[in-house]
Amino acid sequence: MSQYITASKLYDYLQCPHRVWRDVHGPQDEKIKESNPFVELLWSKGVQHEEKILSLIGEYLDLTDGSLDDRFEKTVEAMNNKAPLIYQGVLRHEDMLGIPDLLKKLPDDSYIPVDIKSGMAFEGGGVEEVGGEGKPKKHYAVQLCLYTDLLKRLGFANHHLGRIIDIDGQNVEYDLMALMSVRAKETWWEFYEKIKGHVSFLLKDQYRNKPMNSSKCKLCPWYNSCQKWCKESGDLTNVFYLGRSDRDRLNEDLNVETLDELIDLDVEEVMELKKREKKAGNGDFLYRIGEDSLKKAMRRANVLQNIKEPVLLEPIAFPEVKYELFFDIEDDPTQEFVYLHGVYERSEGKERFLDFTATELSNEAEKEAWGRFWDYIKSLPIDDFSVYYFSHHEKTTYKKLQKKYPDVISMDEVVAFFENPNVIDLYSVVQKDTDWPLSSYSLKALAVYLGFEWRDETPSGALSIQWFNEYLDGKDEAILKRILEYNEDDCKATMVLKDGIEKLELGLDAAR
Ligand code: SF4
Repeated sequence: MSQYITASKLYDYLQCPHRVWRDVHGPQDEKIKESNPFVELLWSKGVQHEEKILSLIGEYLDLTDGSLDDRFEKTVEAMNNKAPLIYQGVLRHEDMLGIPDLLKKLPDDSYIPVDIKSGMAFEGGGVEEVGGEGKPKKHYAVQLCLYTDLLKRLGFANHHLGRIIDIDGQNVEYDLMALMSVRAKETWWEFYEKIKGHVSFLLKDQYRNKPMNSSKCKLCPWYNSCQKWCKESGDLTNVFYLGRSDRDRLNEDLNVETLDELIDLDVEEVMELKKREKKAGNGDFLYRIGEDSLKKAMRRANVLQNIKEPVLLEPIAFPEVKYELFFDIEDDPTQEFVYLHGVYERSEGKERFLDFTATELSNEAEKEAWGRFWDYIKSLPIDDFSVYYFSHHEKTTYKKLQKKYPDVISMDEVVAFFENPNVIDLYSVVQKDTDWPLSSYSLKALAVYLGFEWRDETPSGALSIQWFNEYLDGKDEAILKRILEYNEDDCKATMVLKDGIEKLELGLDAAR
């Protein structure tokens, strides 16, 4: 069966280049059939947003129904008849297929593709400007390139433009011939042409790339299948933080394919070889793989493959204080809403869980919950408490909350809180000072390794967001309890990790 190059194939390629091949040529019996509830939630939010935008844009020709062939014919006919606005038209040419949300007629009777998105039009949410924080999103740009490419081939466009209607209903134009960034050498169009070529090869099985073991795989239906492949083949991406592009470089440049081969490398020899290659003009040889990162990857591979126990690389002394707080927040990025600040408090042998929860989807409720969290923190004796959290998410989110609710607490106080040496990001401790016989250094992987069990059968941050949305619909207290228990267990897992790290013994020499 011939496979079309579509917007979703280009999107998949940007998320994971292997996905395109595996979807068509992979072992179909290994693909997870059930849809992920979080992915469904995102999809239904997208549909709701699209319906809202459609209700505001006035009249349009709706070509949603019918076979692809019929819809393609009707789309071409409508454009020939100069229809001002077409919804769900079908564009097709050779091995390319595109269904833009809208096709809008321009004054010169050409058409521009318009896609409705439930996200911000630009990365960082700002406006596009040289040196500004906003820049076009890669996956939006390539999708618009595909639609414009089809319009050009069908004779309905002579421009390289597309539009996004974003979460706020703003119409934002994408100049597809612009450079991808201020420093980039490639335009969006050139980038699109390049990846379209890769996708075409993968779809036809003329090129085959490898799976990876990555945190990005968690929502993918091929997760189990690709994990199995990585484990069985001893793939280098089993090493935590060794990603797909470094793996491909090591495979190609050194012919190193397995963990055992990686462990056996002579770093000095490799670095000498890299110098020689650079002198000979091959600057791409082991591109972005330096001595330190290679040594780290080899050490982690050795812990994973041979030592099989966690190793402490530097002595760590955690603060000795009256109150230890283990802290974790839950937020819904689809509506930029923080619904829960959870703290598991340990003090003089006693433990308790405190939650500061917003049970309504409103600014007042979000602000009130956050205010109560700070009241609690301010009630603790200064310099006699420590706070442990995992990853920078809490810090980043709190800075955003401060901008939203500046009268709750000042930015200086938020910054001072996270700069306090007693407020510790355990993820950075794990990354810098420890190695684990694990491919993932997520809180879940680490705490489970240390023997901790979540009460929920399917604990995940993504599911918590889905539960929260369900709770908002029906205010079912059982769902709220599930959300709170999950957060409490995340906080407890942070405590288990802190205690686990404290018990580790120095073992750098063994790990080398
Ligand atoms: S599981 Fe990971 S490697 Fe496999 S197709 Fe999905 S994203 Fe790609």
